[in-house]
Amino acid sequence: MHDTAAPIVDDDAAIRSAVAAADVPPLLVAVAHATGDRSILRPELRPDPLLLMDPEVGYTPETKAEAWRLAAGALIAWRDAGLPPPGPATDAELHELIDFMVGDQTASYFELLREELAFDGIDLRAPSWSAADIAPGRTFTVAVVGAGMSGIVAAHRLRQAGVPVVVFEKNDDVGGTWFENTYPGCRVDVPNHLYSYSFAQTNEWPGFFSDQAALLDYFRQVADDVGLREDVRFSTEVLGADWDDDTQTWSVRTRGPDGTDVTESFNALVSAVGQLNRPSFPAIEGRERFAGESFHSARWDHDVDLAGKRVAVIGTGASAAQFIPAVAAEAGELTIFQRTPPWLVPTPNYHDALPEGLRWLLQHVPGYTRWDRLWQFWRSHEGMLPGAVVDPDWPEDQRERAVSLLNDMIRMLLTEHLKAEFPDEALFEKVLPHYPPIAKRIVRDNGSYARALAAPHVDLCTDTIAEITEQGVRTADGVEHACDVLIYGTGFSASHFLTPMRITGRGGVDLHERWGGDARAYLGIVVPEFPNLFLLYGPNTNIVINGSIIYFSECEAHFIAESVRLLLAGGHAAMACRPEVHDAYNERVDAANRTMAWGASSVSSWYKNEKGRVAQNWPFSLLEYWQQTRTVHEGEFRLSERPWGGSQ
Ligand code: NAP
Repeated sequence: MHDTAAPIVDDDAAIRSAVAAADVPPLLVAVAHATGDRSILRPELRPDPLLLMDPEVGYTPETKAEAWRLAAGALIAWRDAGLPPPGPATDAELHELIDFMVGDQTASYFELLREELAFDGIDLRAPSWSAADIAPGRTFTVAVVGAGMSGIVAAHRLRQAGVPVVVFEKNDDVGGTWFENTYPGCRVDVPNHLYSYSFAQTNEWPGFFSDQAALLDYFRQVADDVGLREDVRFSTEVLGADWDDDTQTWSVRTRGPDGTDVTESFNALVSAVGQLNRPSFPAIEGRERFAGESFHSARWDHDVDLAGKRVAVIGTGASAAQFIPAVAAEAGELTIFQRTPPWLVPTPNYHDALPEGLRWLLQHVPGYTRWDRLWQFWRSHEGMLPGAVVDPDWPEDQRERAVSLLNDMIRMLLTEHLKAEFPDEALFEKVLPHYPPIAKRIVRDNGSYARALAAPHVDLCTDTIAEITEQGVRTADGVEHACDVLIYGTGFSASHFLTPMRITGRGGVDLHERWGGDARAYLGIVVPEFPNLFLLYGPNTNIVINGSIIYFSECEAHFIAESVRLLLAGGHAAMACRPEVHDAYNERVDAANRTMAWGASSVSSWYKNEKGRVAQNWPFSLLEYWQQTRTVHEGEFRLSERPWGGSQ
């Protein structure tokens, strides 16, 4: 990973030009620290805390120009002084710098932001203990299922503490979703510098929202840098795992690349299989009859040439919205079957490479990468979350349109955007959602989706699909839409957590039978009766409109490492969450989700399971998840009476 600064040899004009590509808060803070010139942190140039979601964050052309002038002046003076290296920042100095961005919330957020910043490359989330120190002579092994984004961080934290780990990965490389989703147009929809680990920040992202290839490269690089690959068994799928009450271990069944099944024992089992991993095909009659080529977006068949073909796409979610422009550019005819339109949020720089000036700052100003990432974290930590909260006084009969005044204002803004994007009235009527914004994932848009839908050879069909035939798709009005290629952009079996693995816990209880189609876990991580089983990106740990999911994985990985510490330090064999703790927590989560747009609206989404419960989303603040996962409270667990190494 690269985030060190190259020396500045550029002239004044180049420096002045570079700073004009920057967001003001990270620019002033990074330059103030690098150059030691704190005078540029003028109170009138602080971001407006009430306008974090506004593209300008309250800056006018004049205040921006003043900030650029001050930053360029400080950089030029620093260059002329021979670039004296900035010293390490004291707590008080860090406080001052963070305070410039965050204002009166600094006290509550300081420790969290300091971890996210990982100033000077100091990884504050690295375990401060080692297994050898706290449990000398004890062997405690952990199996991690999956080497995607969350498996990498979980395995890394445990390895940092000297806990032996084996990572089982069904693919032949790391990267998970970024390895599997290779559809054209695939890219991250969270600002890219934020969608990265706090402990592996880099100044080499090619875009604001880089593409799949860049993301996959990043996760490969991190795995290499932390030396993870030596502990990964590639092309090895975990079939299931059984808790053995006698030995207090997990028996993990795997199938390796040669097709042989193997069972091995581990003291703990970590699932890092993701929620959006198993493609979901719609239960539409006749799917197997289709005579042409067909595939799911997450299993894109690059051997199928779409040029000039009649292509049909089912689905208009985040994946489809990304690949539809690319498919439209190739296909002779394209029919898109839309059941529910997505809300689109204007993102003009969605496909843009980083501008030269910003790239220069990232590469030349010490710490710039970290302050820029921290600013993105802060800007989006709540995101539009307040706009998703249901106002109890909002009229009941309006709730399928909006859930509060703020939500209705967002609706108006997004509707205006759709109007501008879809001047054709008939098309606009089709793409205008009839549910509240934020009840489903909002899709980023730079106009390419709208242009694709408006193309003369593209048809957006909103009729209900009745069946799939040998020739194509028949809609309820009896029309058969013939096609050569059928692409399923129909999402994932997100609610079927941990499938198709079969996991049995204490007394042989089956995890999926226990859940009964309604997966729950305490903090999304631990489940009663399943000792030493830990989940990453488990139930109710998804975010809809704020933050980055990598943040959640880092919190979960910390909690898991702390749990192992508790077991080792206390000489315990196993820990299982107390049912009353789990139940009370879930009641609170459910109650809160009912007060959010995604829980209140009846619109279909992958956030709800077959019972209608929101089993995916975290309804509280990012700060609260961090606070709750920071410490493992012994009293919330049943610890095994049998000491490790006891009678087996
Ligand atoms: P999705 O959001 O679940 O979308 C599935 C689409 O298929 C929806 O339009 C759905 O319609 C439609 N569909 C499902 N069954 C259907 C049926 N029987 N008939 C007609 N239409 C049907 O899946 P996704 O687009 O793969 O996205 C899933 C999540 O992955 C996203 O929300 C996001 O969190 C993540 N993602 C992220 C990125 C990124 O930019 N980083 C990219 C892709 C995905 P309904 O809406 O009516 O159910």
